[in-house]
Amino acid sequence: MHAIDFERARDAGHAVQLAQQGNTKFIGGGTNLLDLMKGGVEQPIKLIDITRIGLAEISELPGGGLRIGALARNSDTANHPLVRSRYPLLSQALLAGASPQLRNMATVGGNLLQRPRCPYFTDTAFSMCNKRLPGSGCAAREGYNRMHAILGASEACIAVNPSDMNVALTALDATVQVTGPGGARAIPIAGFLRLPGDMPQTEHMLQPAELITSVDLPPPAFTANTFYLKVRDRTSYAFALVSAAVALEMSGGAVRQARIALGGVAHKPWRVPAAEALLVGQPVSEARARQAAAKLVEGARAFKENRFKIEMAQRAVVSALRRAGGMA
Ligand code: SF4
Repeated sequence: MHAIDFERARDAGHAVQLAQQGNTKFIGGGTNLLDLMKGGVEQPIKLIDITRIGLAEISELPGGGLRIGALARNSDTANHPLVRSRYPLLSQALLAGASPQLRNMATVGGNLLQRPRCPYFTDTAFSMCNKRLPGSGCAAREGYNRMHAILGASEACIAVNPSDMNVALTALDATVQVTGPGGARAIPIAGFLRLPGDMPQTEHMLQPAELITSVDLPPPAFTANTFYLKVRDRTSYAFALVSAAVALEMSGGAVRQARIALGGVAHKPWRVPAAEALLVGQPVSEARARQAAAKLVEGARAFKENRFKIEMAQRAVVSALRRAGGMA
């Protein structure tokens, strides 16, 4: 065990200033970070407490969207009247994640940065994990890989993003607002979360000392016809084997816009615009839903224990489309 400095930030600017040295970490809810620190996976030299810097508000944006402060708790976000009424997909996804106790502590910013639950990463008894020990290899490729990726994996890493919230935010085209030493910037979520490539050590595009300040949602085109379906080994407190976030904008019984994001299948939530386009301009039908589902998993590659995910992901998409699109 090494000594860890602890400082409390006054505001976002102060937090960024405090973070500009060595291996520092911001701590909000701490539900993921503290577990990883206890296991020796994360070893920061300094923790910066950001729980008193504000940023927990949920407020309407001038153009009709919604701004969710990075420190809004998951339970507060899921149960907020504006989220429930305008973005039910996000509310469903949040409530499908973790346990009530964890949702009461965990923040939206922390949820965005959740680290993969690959056992070779979270248990330092294993000596092979490119994410934790760059260059050591990926033990999951030939080992336990039932929960791992079927899409977008690399030679270096086949872990999946564990967050339910991130799947809904991807379907809703959220934007992540950050501030850092270089000022503020807005990053579309599709570009904020990343595939492993040959640098699996990180799951996002934040620069050193950058702090997430909010997640912005565009005006709600998808309210009436959405569904989040999570398939897991038990009915609560389990990570997704696969999940599907479906959001449809319907007009006169036909789909005007479609969004489908898959969770549990890749290092980031998986979207395929060509699959979504297959649904546009007509009512949701079983045949079209199956075509879209097949398109989403095109190019999927299974490992020894996770071949079932290819079929399961497609069934989850069809089922979620059935529920979102009012299909019999
Ligand atoms: Fe490590 Fe990624 Fe391989 Fe798991 S899948 S052992 S996190 S490199």
